[in-house]
Amino acid sequence: VKEQKYFDIAIIGAGVVGVNIAFWLSEVYGCSIVLVEQESGAAFHQSSRNTGGVHRPILLDSRTEVGRMQERSYHLWRTLAEEYNLPWKKIGRITLATEDEDAFLIERYYQWGLSNGVTEEELQLLDGKSITKIEPSVKCVVGLVSKNETITHYGELSQQLLELSLGNGVRFSRYEKVIGIRKREGKFEVELRNTASGDRSSLSCKVLVNAAGGAALRLARMLGLGRGYVDLHLRGAYWMVEGPLVEGIKRNIYPITRHGIEGIDLSYTGPHLITRYHGRGVWKKELGPTAAPVLGPFAYNGISGVTTEDLEKFILDPIGPRKLYLTRDFLSFAWNQWMMVNSRQSVVAYLQKCIPELNAGMISGHGITGVIVEVMNKKGFLSEPVVIDDHSFVSVLYVGGGATASPAFCAGLIANLRRKGLLDGLRERQTQPHQSLWNYAKVSEEF
Ligand SMILES: Cc1cc2nc3c(=O)[nH]c(=O)nc-3n(C[C@H](O)[C@H](O)[C@H](O)COP(=O)(O)OP(=O)(O)OC[C@H]3O[C@@H](n4cnc5c(N)ncnc54)[C@H](O)[C@@H]3O)c2cc1C
Repeated sequence: VKEQKYFDIAIIGAGVVGVNIAFWLSEVYGCSIVLVEQESGAAFHQSSRNTGGVHRPILLDSRTEVGRMQERSYHLWRTLAEEYNLPWKKIGRITLATEDEDAFLIERYYQWGLSNGVTEEELQLLDGKSITKIEPSVKCVVGLVSKNETITHYGELSQQLLELSLGNGVRFSRYEKVIGIRKREGKFEVELRNTASGDRSSLSCKVLVNAAGGAALRLARMLGLGRGYVDLHLRGAYWMVEGPLVEGIKRNIYPITRHGIEGIDLSYTGPHLITRYHGRGVWKKELGPTAAPVLGPFAYNGISGVTTEDLEKFILDPIGPRKLYLTRDFLSFAWNQWMMVNSRQSVVAYLQKCIPELNAGMISGHGITGVIVEVMNKKGFLSEPVVIDDHSFVSVLYVGGGATASPAFCAGLIANLRRKGLLDGLRERQTQPHQSLWNYAKVSEEF
């Protein structure tokens, strides 16, 4: 075991959440900050394996804050992408229902969007005929057009935030996997294993922020926290699709379907027709993501990435997914999603309800797979951010508004920690280095 290092703040996980936290903290504080990541760089997991949608806040209940966080963050991301010439394609989106009985959801999303700050000029609620006029290959009973929906690459945005944080003095400790956390004499001791060499080391810190994405709950439990929560991992597989039909559909197409599982709103899950960034200025059409239940946050293929801890959680957890997995509706949902992971015909059949001329011959291969994380408590799935803190150990279990909402969410999180006095005594900066890019005072006062 090598010599232990001390930092004022340590952040675990360099996904979009971890780099946002590192950026904002290093803009406000001039103290020592380390960002610890098990991979070779930022955003290796969910943050680069997602659709890349910079969503407009239509699916988020306007009685909560998360819709406004998404709205605020959309503009922050746009500013960052413009400033550093990063991928940003304003493509527009149609969220639609193909069955009369689901139409009320689309109307609800329209109202939520307006209440969350989207303008009437940007959002259009249209009947099926009007949708077919603007997208001739698309059929539905009602559709909600959000003109400013955008596609980006969160990996590149995260990398840019990491670089700005490094410029602010943040230390990036990559290839270091956190394998143990202990609290001793008012400090945290974090045990690390180097994922390249296998060497063990440790660091200690005053404040510890756990932003480990799909592994965050597992890390929180190292200190006995988060017992009331359970995470559910869903494999988000994509299929690449080509040809004049899909190229002719300009906007992203998101059919919604009530999957009929009591107490759970999974209506927006299931594959969509989307445009995805493939690097070097290339954008391609894909169908996805699926939402097929898997046992762990890194289970990209087969059951690889599933640890004995995942199996234990499945078998032993009192409110765990086992109970949910064994309900008939959920089993049928899971079965359908798995069919779409494995069969082109199944995914095409699902989307033919809104794009009737789509066929399996248009699929040219697999896209990059991700693993989505949902968090639930005894009452069911949670749609708002889930943060638990025990003194100076703060765990972000769930963001709610996805990668889109993370800049405003993280600024709000830091404001909250400051209010609670958890960051007292750390050296504050006189001025914020990148105030003209993202203004901490302005964003944080809103959340
Ligand atoms: C298929 C899919 C599609 C999605 N589509 C969208 C979309 O279109 N728009 C949108 O806004 N959101 C979307 N999301 C959600 C979005 O990607 C996530 O909300 C977001 O990326 C979560 O970021 P994170 O930083 O919490 O997690 P991650 O990106 O997973 O980052 C966590 C990091 O922690 C590291 N880590 C974990 N354990 C340890 C450890 N023990 N030691 C050290 N490091 C560790 C991991 O290596 C990882 O880098 C999608 C997600 C998926 C999977």
